[in-house]
Amino acid sequence: MTKRILLSSPHMSGNEQKYINEAFETNWIAPLGPNVNAFEKELAEYAGTAGAAATSSGTAAIHLALDLVGVKRGDRVFCASLTFVASANPILYLGAEPVFIDSEEETWNMSPVALKRALEELNSVEKLPKAVIVVNLYGHSAKMDELMAICDEYGVPVIEDAAESLGSLYKGKKSGSFGQFGVYSFNGNKIITTSGGGMLVSNDVDALAQSRFLATQARDTAPHYQHSVVGYNYRMSNILAGVGRGQLEVLDDRVKAKRDVFDRYVEALGDIEGVHFMPELEDTFSNRWLTTLTLDPDKVSITPYALIDVLEAENIEARPVWKPLHMQPLFEDCKFYAHAQETIVSERLFAEGLCLPSGSNMTVEEQERVIILLKKHLSN
Ligand SMILES: *Cc1c(COP(=O)(O)O)cnc(C)c1O
Repeated sequence: MTKRILLSSPHMSGNEQKYINEAFETNWIAPLGPNVNAFEKELAEYAGTAGAAATSSGTAAIHLALDLVGVKRGDRVFCASLTFVASANPILYLGAEPVFIDSEEETWNMSPVALKRALEELNSVEKLPKAVIVVNLYGHSAKMDELMAICDEYGVPVIEDAAESLGSLYKGKKSGSFGQFGVYSFNGNKIITTSGGGMLVSNDVDALAQSRFLATQARDTAPHYQHSVVGYNYRMSNILAGVGRGQLEVLDDRVKAKRDVFDRYVEALGDIEGVHFMPELEDTFSNRWLTTLTLDPDKVSITPYALIDVLEAENIEARPVWKPLHMQPLFEDCKFYAHAQETIVSERLFAEGLCLPSGSNMTVEEQERVIILLKKHLSN
């Protein structure tokens, strides 16, 4: 059997080992430590935010952000529907109610039209959400200007789930740096990884200090163990932060490699009728974490699922686009606002969408194997 080609696998630089060794040599294995402090500083510099707090996962960072903006039991939180479940799970951790917002066609991300309608409607019954979680899918920034303006109008804070868009730009500014809080993930399949980890970024350094307090069991200042509010065990270890520092050094190279992968797919397949690659909005720059496309069922005879099977038979991993959260059994009772009355954009993207192998460590020869198969099965 030929070597398996994965969707996106960890891609170490070699520098990680240096930082891990430092931690071992000083026996600074835990808790926290110099690598954590340095990783936070370096990442905040990269993102262009006043600060950053390293967490055990991206999900943990979303949970902390929701807690910090004051989400309580029974509150409502808006969230993009077309995303990974981790964007919305922390809403449930806090006993709040998720309300899902559809996508729009140009970025596949939260529809400003649907968001506006949802806010108008809930404002009229005095049920405004405590936060809006905007997601930047597959590396592509949502329409941040429009979304931020609408949220500002209603005074609702934005949490930017930038787990997939580290290294991307929106109008020259780093993706993840727009909302009150931004969240990055260093899970194994993300553009850079610490094997598992996350980061909360913000310009509000007091809130970040509070996030560190909450993430270490919310221990009050006292000689004994004293606690006044509920806390979590959500900080990143000093060893994993070492991996993160090594990875951050090569982030821009990884973005370039991902964009090269995307460009090769477009060059090979872009002319096939009915094949539409995820667009890149004007004045934005996507890290192209995963190359994603849709297959128009009127023009392409093979379905995304059939194509996934064809690739799997050749030991190549491909996946459908995220299944919208408003379609998940977990969220079947939640409210959902469509882009327009007759058009649910996220459902179409799910039905027609496909993620292709996009590893920054995938060789040109490996990608050629994928392309040959795709060409054969898409061209009739
Ligand atoms: C990966 C991911 C997360 C969760 O990050 P973890 O570090 O795995 O907890 C959240 N949101 C999106 C959109 C993701 O892709």
